[in-house]
Amino acid sequence: MKIDRRQFIAASSAAFAISPLARAIGAQAPAAPAAPAAQTPPPAAPKFEDVRRNVGLFTMRGGTIGWLVNRGAVLVVDTQFPDSAKVCLDGLKQKAANRQVDLIFNTHHHGDHTGGNAIFRAEAKRLIAQARVPDLLRQVAATAAANTPAPTLPDATFDQTWSQDFGDEKVTARYDGPGHTGGDSMIHFERAHVVHMGDLLFHERHPRVDRPAGASIQNWLKILERTTKDLPADTIYIAGHAKEGLPVTVDRKAVLRFRDYFDAVLTLTRKGIAAGQTKDALSATATLPGFESYQGGGALTLGGVLAAAFDELSAR
Ligand SMILES: [Zn+2]
Repeated sequence: MKIDRRQFIAASSAAFAISPLARAIGAQAPAAPAAPAAQTPPPAAPKFEDVRRNVGLFTMRGGTIGWLVNRGAVLVVDTQFPDSAKVCLDGLKQKAANRQVDLIFNTHHHGDHTGGNAIFRAEAKRLIAQARVPDLLRQVAATAAANTPAPTLPDATFDQTWSQDFGDEKVTARYDGPGHTGGDSMIHFERAHVVHMGDLLFHERHPRVDRPAGASIQNWLKILERTTKDLPADTIYIAGHAKEGLPVTVDRKAVLRFRDYFDAVLTLTRKGIAAGQTKDALSATATLPGFESYQGGGALTLGGVLAAAFDELSAR
């Protein structure tokens, strides 16, 4: 089999896992974070992008990393995996003239958003997340393979909202009830009009609905609705994941389209249940009218979302 660019990067990034930094923090060989196969894709070429007013993003492997680098502070939202976290941290050090990272946020507990926590935590002042995230990280760790390193937990949490000034930016984190998991927060850069949605936002992709971790499609739909009402019209939304070839930054219209997707999922599921359809029959639905362009694959499929919707609407 021909060695393509992705495999080359995978091979070269393995070197990061045994870097002096990784050794210093007790990291073992390249960790296999506990997450379904669909959430641990091969790395793409690392990419830094400016979004607006000192807020930017980094993509390589797993959930989109957001960052803020201004004169007063360095902030990171989510940490991907150990190898890509190292690449991101090195790039941010250059942008920030080697200043220490003031704060790391985890938008939620999934491995493709927290797998690089140890790499960032070793060089940051604080790691914060919503109050349910530590328990959810521990739950995943309890079922992980024996040689998996213990998760790096947040050292501070918040329940509903959290806010602080960082340089000339005001950052507010908000928990709006269960969505993609039971502990998702969105991180709003209020002066930049940019919000990192974590996995509350998938751009043109079938999402993961993590019911064992407390997800709720019905409330997720409301979160999307409320957020677009509450935030300024020109807000740029950073998605956790996007369809291959599409950007991870979108506008309000795309967020409302994702709300409409859930509306269509719930409508179809309610009809199916009312007609006596089984969960298996419902999950076998080939396409969702109006959303045929959504990317599926691996563990993230329309069938998976419909099965979660069936369970949610049947559980009363
Ligand atoms: Zn997730």
